[in-house]
Amino acid sequence: MSEGDIYDVVIVGGGPGGLTAGIYAMRAALKTFLVEKAVAGGQVAMSDGVENYPGFESISGYELSQKFLQHAQSYDIEFVQEEVVAVEPGLDFHSVKLANGNLLKTHTVILATGGSPRKLGVPGEDKYYGKGVSYCGVCDGFFFRDRTVVVVGGGDTAAEEALYLAKLAKQVYMVHRRDALRASMILQQRVKDECKIEVLWNTIVTEIKANEEGVDAVSLQDTQTGEQRELSTDGVFIFIGFIPNNQLVPAGIKMNADGYVITNEKCETNMPGIYVVGDLREKYAKQIVVAAADGCTAALVAAHYVEMKKSGEAVCELPEDLLQEAQ
Ligand code: NAP
Repeated sequence: MSEGDIYDVVIVGGGPGGLTAGIYAMRAALKTFLVEKAVAGGQVAMSDGVENYPGFESISGYELSQKFLQHAQSYDIEFVQEEVVAVEPGLDFHSVKLANGNLLKTHTVILATGGSPRKLGVPGEDKYYGKGVSYCGVCDGFFFRDRTVVVVGGGDTAAEEALYLAKLAKQVYMVHRRDALRASMILQQRVKDECKIEVLWNTIVTEIKANEEGVDAVSLQDTQTGEQRELSTDGVFIFIGFIPNNQLVPAGIKMNADGYVITNEKCETNMPGIYVVGDLREKYAKQIVVAAADGCTAALVAAHYVEMKKSGEAVCELPEDLLQEAQ
């Protein structure tokens, strides 16, 4: 980038949504800048296996992420690893501020910042993070070979991670607060069939305990009887959902009560030229394929917006309800 450049689109976030937006933006000949603060692929890069992305019966999350990145880079996209500190909407241009002090001016912004693991909020969770508490089986599972681990949660992520950890650990206790898993039926069946996994139903973790070597136990409570007990474990893996990374969403953009950005089917927010894709967007299915589809949609809509803007035509095509919020 050079000073004075005005981008057609700045994409914030390099997960499946952001990278797909990058591919479509480059193919639409938009002057594109993609900024990602960590690794390309986002959450997907940390996933052990992906089995539901069409065209790949089974592929590691890291490998799939690398394929997305390589595809985007085949168009010579400007991809920079840097943190974004603010997105500031403007009348003529929007601005994206980077942590290194650079300021990008752009006609449109696609926010693809995804989400982060939700925390349990129990004593010991923060204190023993990295000392037995983890939010990523693929990253940390290796340290728990032939040991005992607790997996907290009952959704797809918890089930997938419990199955992954069962390949390494001696014993996996899956602690779930209800009497039925939320995970898809195929994952539920696999959990049931895996003899190293024991599901502790109607149970919550109330405290994580440690000795000088790291985590050594969790306190559990039965949600029906209130009964408390202690369970020895070497690690605690927490997968209880997800909170949207909405810190960069400019004030005035409409979000729901859970902090997900409300868009229309074109991924338009209530602010012209600002789009949201992937897991940050309020929608039914948080899936890689949906994030990728969002990225495609937002890039095509942005291309149309930029073309209209440059030709001097009116560009506000937002539906009435979203437009009112923008004013
Ligand atoms: P999720 O579907 O929201 O499940 C979260 C789980 O954690 C639920 O079982 C929930 O219990 C439990 N939970 C939430 N807060 C808790 C707390 N404070 N204490 C104890 N337990 C708590 O989250 P996810 O599994 O991360 O999945 C997120 C999205 O990604 C979902 O749409 C999922 O389908 C998708 N995903 C898909 C795949 C795949 O298709 N391969 C893989 C991973 C994720 P309750 O059930 O009682 O609410």
